[in-house]
Amino acid sequence: MKQRAIIAMALACEPDLVIADEPTTALDVIVQDRILRELREIQTRLNMSMIYISHDMAVIAEVSDVMGVMYAGKIVEFGATSEVFSHPIHPYSSALMSAFPSITGEKHDLLTLPGEPPDLTDPPEGCRFNPRCAYATDQCRTEEPPIVDRDGHWAACWNPL
Ligand code: SF4
Repeated sequence: MKQRAIIAMALACEPDLVIADEPTTALDVIVQDRILRELREIQTRLNMSMIYISHDMAVIAEVSDVMGVMYAGKIVEFGATSEVFSHPIHPYSSALMSAFPSITGEKHDLLTLPGEPPDLTDPPEGCRFNPRCAYATDQCRTEEPPIVDRDGHWAACWNPL
């Protein structure tokens, strides 16, 4: 109820932009679904933009038109949500997609990444994902990849998939 009250307070001023950081965490899926639908309706009615921050890939697939994938504090991939989900080109995004089950697709073993997220006070040199990446090369260990536009699908990777 507190979360719903906060969401209602945020929307009462009819903002142009709402930044929603894990707004439905800890809610059961039925309440979560109801809130997400209400948010979508209000968003359409008020013609407002929303930045939705979440670890829940299923929610991101439901609420967003475009998405950015962050690793160690940096956006590593950005593009249309449907495109990023169907054709991730950054190895971290690809690993994320392989780490949760598909209800309709083929059954597969869920992927787990080796290692731990980096210490952000002393991040790895080069690409921050390089200690955990199966595609890492010497260049990845020394040079930070810039984020590059590939026909509206952006990725920061020296060896995009
Ligand atoms: S830049 Fe290299 S280490 Fe980083 S994600 Fe791409 S292939 Fe992996």
